Amino acid sequence: MEYSESTIKGCEFYEVTCSKCGSNYHRVKGIIKYAFLFLEYVPCYPVSRKLVFECRDCKNKTDSSAVSAAILKKADDLVFSMVQFIPKFMGILLLIFALGFWAYTNEQENQRSTQYVSSPKVNDFYHIDYRHFTEALRPHEKYKIARVFDITDDIVTVRFGSVFYRYKSNTSQGLSSGQVSSAQYFEKKEYQFSLSELLALRQKNVLYKAERPTKNMLHGVIVIGKNHINIKQPPIETAYFPGAPENKKGIAFLQANYLIDNDTRAFDAFKKSAELNFKYGQLNLAEMYLTGKAVSRDVTQALYWLEQASKQGFSPAIKKYIFVCGKEPTCNLDNFYQQLSQVGVNYSLNI
Ligand SMILES: [Zn+2]
Repeated sequence: MEYSESTIKGCEFYEVTCSKCGSNYHRVKGIIKYAFLFLEYVPCYPVSRKLVFECRDCKNKTDSSAVSAAILKKADDLVFSMVQFIPKFMGILLLIFALGFWAYTNEQENQRSTQYVSSPKVNDFYHIDYRHFTEALRPHEKYKIARVFDITDDIVTVRFGSVFYRYKSNTSQGLSSGQVSSAQYFEKKEYQFSLSELLALRQKNVLYKAERPTKNMLHGVIVIGKNHINIKQPPIETAYFPGAPENKKGIAFLQANYLIDNDTRAFDAFKKSAELNFKYGQLNLAEMYLTGKAVSRDVTQALYWLEQASKQGFSPAIKKYIFVCGKEPTCNLDNFYQQLSQVGVNYSLNI
């Protein structure tokens, strides 16, 4: 704490006699001493007050200790009022307000994070204390950004960023720098967590913050690059297959976040493509049934379309079918393998 003083102009006063010239004509001024932090003009609280009597004739100052208590009280009432002291608490009030605001936003952010973790979505960002996962780190290597790349049932597939951050707050800066929108930012390796594992990480504060972009943006910055949407793009040579233009249209709609109904239109396009037996369209349609995007979640439909694509020996669809089926009590994998071998697809060679 540091201290400063402010002077109150006061008024004319006739009840003190000047010890030098004998004049009764004085001006009484008030001085408030206050404490401040950093900024002198933002007082935190008043410390003391005193009165100064200045002779109007010879400028001699009479100290308040030389004045009787009754006269001092009178002068005090004339000079000081409650109103003058309120601004002297401004610093403390500001501090309390700032702390309250900080606590409030912090609590809101915490609640939001927990909500995002308990109902994850593709493209959610996690701020991670990476020391939980490995001990083989250098002292400054502590925090990482992670992103959700896939959700199938309650298995969340996450990829970690390749950049380490030294302080917790640096991950937020990493996000708002926009570097995460580059395809190279995230490591290729995928990690799978169940929902309960994620919630446990959240509880331990390993996952200390979760954020969900809207329209591919966070904090006013694009954080999801175009090619980050979880869709299967066919290679160029299949571009003229039946159903290929519809699939292409679906992908374009999926990326057209500026349209209100882009997901629905993507779904319709993928459906047309799938019905034309285009395997990429079938896989993308299944993906929409699994994520419940634009249509209510329907695992049976998803499995049906994955099976159609699998029968064409399409290994991403086979892998996905096996994964989804494994989590579905009513799904029979043996049946699926049988179906595949009937149409001449050897699944083990395709994976
Ligand atoms: Zn005088």
